Amino acid sequence: MELIIHDFELPLLHPFTISRETITVQPTVIVELRDGDLSGYGEATTNRYYGATKEQLRASLESLRETVEKFDWNDPAELWEIAHDKVEDTFALCALDLAAHDLWGKRLGKPVYELWGLTTDKNPVSNYTIGIDEIDVMVSKMQEFSDWPVYKIKLGTAHDLEIVEQLRKHTAAPFRVDANCAWSAQQTIDFSKPLADLGVEFIEQPLPADQLDQMEEVFDLSALPVIADENCLVPEDVDACIGRFHGINIKLVKCGGLTPARKMIQQARQAELKVMVGCMTESTVGISAIGQLLPMLDYVDMDGAALLASDIASGCEVKQGVCCYPDVPGNGVTLLG
Ligand code: MG
Repeated sequence: MELIIHDFELPLLHPFTISRETITVQPTVIVELRDGDLSGYGEATTNRYYGATKEQLRASLESLRETVEKFDWNDPAELWEIAHDKVEDTFALCALDLAAHDLWGKRLGKPVYELWGLTTDKNPVSNYTIGIDEIDVMVSKMQEFSDWPVYKIKLGTAHDLEIVEQLRKHTAAPFRVDANCAWSAQQTIDFSKPLADLGVEFIEQPLPADQLDQMEEVFDLSALPVIADENCLVPEDVDACIGRFHGINIKLVKCGGLTPARKMIQQARQAELKVMVGCMTESTVGISAIGQLLPMLDYVDMDGAALLASDIASGCEVKQGVCCYPDVPGNGVTLLG
């Protein structure tokens, strides 16, 4: 087995702004696990909030090189366990675990979801995400993707309700909002009723992650369900969300890949929490891994590759919110030459 580390700069279709930053290019690291004629691909995009840089990712992956190239595994979870004992960098673990799953399915000639015993006929549709901007720009971003079935609106400005009111004038599709930690508990409670009246189905991560205790009041008084994102990174975080959130948004780079993501889904189901998987502006490499989890989810945000001006791979393609699977086993990824 050979570990090959690639990195790319993914150009975005539009500058993407959330409550804490704006980006125009998304750096990403691609892991290739090559075994004879077969290659499995995994991805982790970099992220300033989580301190994940290309350099850090490469260093973590290099420290795993000997293990990865020598260890003979049958199930990707075996590789994940041994790698997790050696490094804590969930972004690196994610890229490695996604590649291991892609290779696993390619070895067995089947899509990963099928190897997990899942079928794709009841998949949820994905939202299209609209980053923060001038309101008329946000409206035109939505209109550019007017055939998507649901929109996720990034909030955290001084005029959040007005943004949703204006967008509502141009579509009847359901909305979700994501404040990325920008609101207070009182603001969240106050906004929840008017947002519900505007056809918003849930609020994602309203409060800063260190204000988890205040989420109990929000949980009780909000007119809308609240979904944890920055408060729910790894399997160990799920229990603390019970009674504070109605659901969790899992990100593969934050938890460390498909192996821990499946653990979190199981935990959430036991606690009767709703389950969403989100993306971090990944290329089709990362998005295709999310496609494998799709049959297990209530909600999904897998528009990452749709936000890019150009892609580096083919695989699961999300068209008008619907995930279309390629005729390639594993996660279905082929790196474009
Ligand atoms: Mg979020």
